[in-house]
Amino acid sequence: MERCVLLAGNWKMHKGPKETRSFLEDLDKVLELENGITEAIVSKKIELALFPPFISIPTLCDFNHKVIKWGGQNAHWEEKGAFTGEISIPMLLELGCSYVILGHSERRHIFGETDEMVSKKVTAALDHGLSPVLCVGETLDERNGGNAFSVIRRQLLSALEGVDSTKAAQIVVAYEPVWAIGTGRTASDTDAQEACSFIRSLFAERYGQDVASGVRILYGGSVNPKNAAGLLGQPDIDGALIGGASLSVESYIEIVKEALSVL
Ligand code: PEP
Repeated sequence: MERCVLLAGNWKMHKGPKETRSFLEDLDKVLELENGITEAIVSKKIELALFPPFISIPTLCDFNHKVIKWGGQNAHWEEKGAFTGEISIPMLLELGCSYVILGHSERRHIFGETDEMVSKKVTAALDHGLSPVLCVGETLDERNGGNAFSVIRRQLLSALEGVDSTKAAQIVVAYEPVWAIGTGRTASDTDAQEACSFIRSLFAERYGQDVASGVRILYGGSVNPKNAAGLLGQPDIDGALIGGASLSVESYIEIVKEALSVL
């Protein structure tokens, strides 16, 4: 299977509709000049997806970008109901989302999402045909205590509970060590590769080699134009979940170019 590198921009709580529109206009200007990037997207060597705040998703939907995909940063597992402040998966689908980020460490650690909640969300997304970008990763204490892999295993296996192999193939996993998110501290290429390879081995154990080789595993945590090529050049890293550096067209495009250089 040809490798298709996914560069996913998690905007977190940045950019309302106006800023989103001007980002897309600026991005388009760059893409018009950079034929190589558009060609790589059309030929499925590279995929770009943006995850703005919910309120800005309609802007992406209306812009109807030819080559960029988009998704939500979270979703509830129920389709509708008395869940003030929540958004459902059918609602994201109505706005043309291709993905939904689930179990981001900020959701787990700031908003108290448990493995069980993440698991229900993953199941609901897959049942509706929406691909989850499932985030897993250890805190610094967990890493220093030698527990990084057991945490990754627990989070991943819990999220995969009840997921069959056909559905598992639709999942994108993002390995995001909590200590590297928004801190400017990146995992070394070797540490990131080791964790992503471990995640692939868990897929192999559970679903067999075919699913394991096809599943896309991203690294996330202070990815920037300087460290992107080293990380994306690793055999088990199929893309990146990018926070801060996806907020400016310039740095996002620089990362895309770095990805192209290691394809
Ligand atoms: C993220 O939001 O998932 C992330 C990895 O952020 P940053 O790139 O800013 O560390």
